[in-house]
Amino acid sequence: MFESILSAYSRTQIIILQQIYRKRKITRAELTEATGFQLLTVTKSVSRLLADGLIAEREYRQSTGGRKAALLSVNPDYRYTLTADIGASCARIGVVGMDGSVIESEIIAAEVHDNGNTVPARHVTVAQLRAKLTKLIRKYGREKILGLGVGVSGVVRHSSGQILFCPNIEGWNNVDMQKEFAEPLGIPVFVDTAARCMALAEYTLGAGQGVADQVCISIGTSVAAGILLDGKVYRGADEAAGEIGHTTVRADGRRCTCGNRDCLELYVTTPTLLMQAKRALPAFSGFSPLKTIVQGRAYPTPQELQAAAMQGDKLALEILQRCAETIGTAVGYLTNILNPNLIVLGGATIDFFPQLVEEVARISQRSGFTVTQQNLAIKPYALGTLSAMIGAALQVIDAFF
Ligand SMILES: [Zn+2]
Repeated sequence: MFESILSAYSRTQIIILQQIYRKRKITRAELTEATGFQLLTVTKSVSRLLADGLIAEREYRQSTGGRKAALLSVNPDYRYTLTADIGASCARIGVVGMDGSVIESEIIAAEVHDNGNTVPARHVTVAQLRAKLTKLIRKYGREKILGLGVGVSGVVRHSSGQILFCPNIEGWNNVDMQKEFAEPLGIPVFVDTAARCMALAEYTLGAGQGVADQVCISIGTSVAAGILLDGKVYRGADEAAGEIGHTTVRADGRRCTCGNRDCLELYVTTPTLLMQAKRALPAFSGFSPLKTIVQGRAYPTPQELQAAAMQGDKLALEILQRCAETIGTAVGYLTNILNPNLIVLGGATIDFFPQLVEEVARISQRSGFTVTQQNLAIKPYALGTLSAMIGAALQVIDAFF
């Protein structure tokens, strides 16, 4: 796919380039150690890569004897990657440098429907996204564009570049990304679920750097997990691994959009938490400032629910506690099966209610099997709302290196 660029380089030069990308910052001496090549070979290869602009030498580290050692890193401006994170509450479109840095980004919020909800989301159609990307290609110049990475909240076939099922977003069911984007734009296109993109971003640049076995759970308008095993994205036999949102977690008999009952997704997404507040508020007799805050409206906003919880509102605290218990139980199952070292929690629900992370960790400790919990950390995502968008681009950048 990127042979036209890389065919100009020797195997040795490519190995050195890959090491620089993986280590992010490395000195020439460290490269010699990591690759086993002679210092002279490394120095020559580095000079060539520097001259061609693939790598840069922008920082220095004090080394023994007072000499400064130059730190080599990939040149963020060598090429740019277009990226789109197509979610249920908004779409994020951006441009990312070779090091994963965000050069520019735009948010297109979903229209809010009469019922106060954004689902199914209406924000950007296939044709509108293609038009926006065409503009960006014109702005940066086609020769500067490495490719397009897309993350989508839905069921995706990464291997053939197809979005199969996208129930929460209008117009994105059954989209052939090769036909709709790669061919007309003339650039390579990669697509995966937003949760896997988030996992890739957190592994490369965020909360899970260097942790080979980890799971990133995205909890927002829907719930999905991105699984990394041995440092590689695990997709499963039918590329449907990580659909934790449709795991049965209770026995209330509530019907889910997937046809099953009592799925995790029915109890912990941001819209369902607000729905729970709406249902319980009228009859709630305990201490609840939320009652006064919501007066006259059906739902509180997520910010109002969080503010009420911080003031000790009994109902808000109860809702969030149940949410943490439900996520914690699911995390317990997941860790018993996969035994990761790290669970990263991200998505709108975590943005609004960050205190959930600590409580989920406590419940997972209690509900998971002891051995799977002893070396397990549970953390919030570090790249926040940009995580999936950066990860979508990293699919392309990783493929280049
Ligand atoms: Zn379901």
